[in-house]
Amino acid sequence: METAGLKIDVLSDGTFGLDGGAMFGMVPRERWKELCPPDERNRIRLGTHTLCVRGPGFVLLVDPGVSLSADPEMFAIRRNPTLEESLAGIGLAPEDVTHVTMSHLHFDHAGGGRSFPNAEYLVQEAEWAAATSPHLLHSRSYRREDLPPEDRVRLLPGDGEILPGVRVRVTGGPSAGHQVLLFEDRAVFFGDLLPTIHHLSPPRTMAYDLEPRRVVDVKLSLFREAAEKGWLGFLYHDLSPDPIRIVSEGRRFRAVR
Ligand SMILES: [Zn+2]
Repeated sequence: METAGLKIDVLSDGTFGLDGGAMFGMVPRERWKELCPPDERNRIRLGTHTLCVRGPGFVLLVDPGVSLSADPEMFAIRRNPTLEESLAGIGLAPEDVTHVTMSHLHFDHAGGGRSFPNAEYLVQEAEWAAATSPHLLHSRSYRREDLPPEDRVRLLPGDGEILPGVRVRVTGGPSAGHQVLLFEDRAVFFGDLLPTIHHLSPPRTMAYDLEPRRVVDVKLSLFREAAEKGWLGFLYHDLSPDPIRIVSEGRRFRAVR
């Protein structure tokens, strides 16, 4: 996707698997297994679609892949391609990345926390606090070894423009500091607020979400805004790299590719 000031590419760090029940919260297995067929260990296959956003003087990565220390067997990790190979596919090396930001710092979004030697890491203050001293409930979601070195982190105080044409908005979701990204009022990266196309119905929250009722309300208003403004929507965990447009039909939504 290209706008007046930004060029956005969807990269891949391969696929991995998470428990289908955890990804679909209160949705009955009979329903979600039709949408995302589980393997013999009840895991559903998820994509890891990192965004590369190029603008005047910067190369920004958004959600740089799955933790390099995650158990490949437990999480059925298939790095085919790796994020580095995907970057090379658009003519870039890890050294070319000037900035990295994450929707949140859970292990499946913050894998490249130490892979980009020249990058500044832009992290929500609340998320940094949650990751560096996690509550017991989330201690397995954050990995210290993925976190960028503190002297390369710039803490973000909440909503705002982080680079020309790139804004962040804190939404909550699987963590209090979870943020979505907005690109020149033309596109949105949903992070885990809309992990796959099958989560478009607002009540389809994840078991990981901290406050499901609030997440439903946030999804409703964000999806309405996306539909009204005709934003292109990027989905990190969907198996397809193609962005969607959301069509609003009252409290229901439809995705068009
Ligand atoms: Zn995730």
